[in-house]
Amino acid sequence: MFKKIFPVLATACLLNACVTSPTGRSQFVFMPDAQIDQMGLQAFDNLKKQKPISNSSKYNQLASCIAGAITQQTGGNWEVVVFEDASPNAFALPGNKIGVHTGMITLVDNQDQLAAVIGHEIGHVLAKHSNERASQEMAVSSGMGIIQAVSAPQTALGQTALGLLGVGAQYGILMPYSRVHESEADMIGVDLMAKAGFDPQQSIGLWQKMEQASQGQQPLEFMSTHPSHATRIQDLEKHMPQAMGLFQQAQSAGKQPHCN
Ligand SMILES: [Zn+2]
Repeated sequence: MFKKIFPVLATACLLNACVTSPTGRSQFVFMPDAQIDQMGLQAFDNLKKQKPISNSSKYNQLASCIAGAITQQTGGNWEVVVFEDASPNAFALPGNKIGVHTGMITLVDNQDQLAAVIGHEIGHVLAKHSNERASQEMAVSSGMGIIQAVSAPQTALGQTALGLLGVGAQYGILMPYSRVHESEADMIGVDLMAKAGFDPQQSIGLWQKMEQASQGQQPLEFMSTHPSHATRIQDLEKHMPQAMGLFQQAQSAGKQPHCN
């Protein structure tokens, strides 16, 4: 497989497709961002048509309040939608779209844990993980067709495209993020939540809760696409002094969100 990928990636690099992620990691990203955003927008549009949207003002206010505080740190216009779905899941898509299931809201203990979920998902988007996954996929397969395929989710390529975006579950495509992507989303997410004034220590509580919840018979979809690794909590703990510094700065600056 390496033999096959390497020349393509090397060529991509020559075409200036090597970029640096927000944490300083080199990435092979050679899909145009505008097209990846288009994939995200299309997938989100479809989800909004297919899945019931929660009309609970309490849940909608909670999700908007938390996402609003976090995305104030990133800039850009973000849309957040609460889906009526008892499975604890959340996702963010290129094109600045955030989806939260009601089951995630009822699972978490407090606003800070939900901020940890949303921060982590936004981390995947900011670090262009979908683009990186799609670029790798394209290096071994089929050219630009994958972008258009999102609008034909019943096709194999369409399902792959949704899997790359992390929202292929309803077609049975659970494409887990790599450990590198998970760690990166953790670091970006925990800093973002701290800068917004949410307690970053709750990110550890969240992952412990997730692991506990996935001990049941049905493994959680969220944990299937965001697999846990032995060092996740250790890595978060190592990063906590920096995150707590950001949290304290945010608190002194008056950023003390009360979302619930
Ligand atoms: Zn993740």
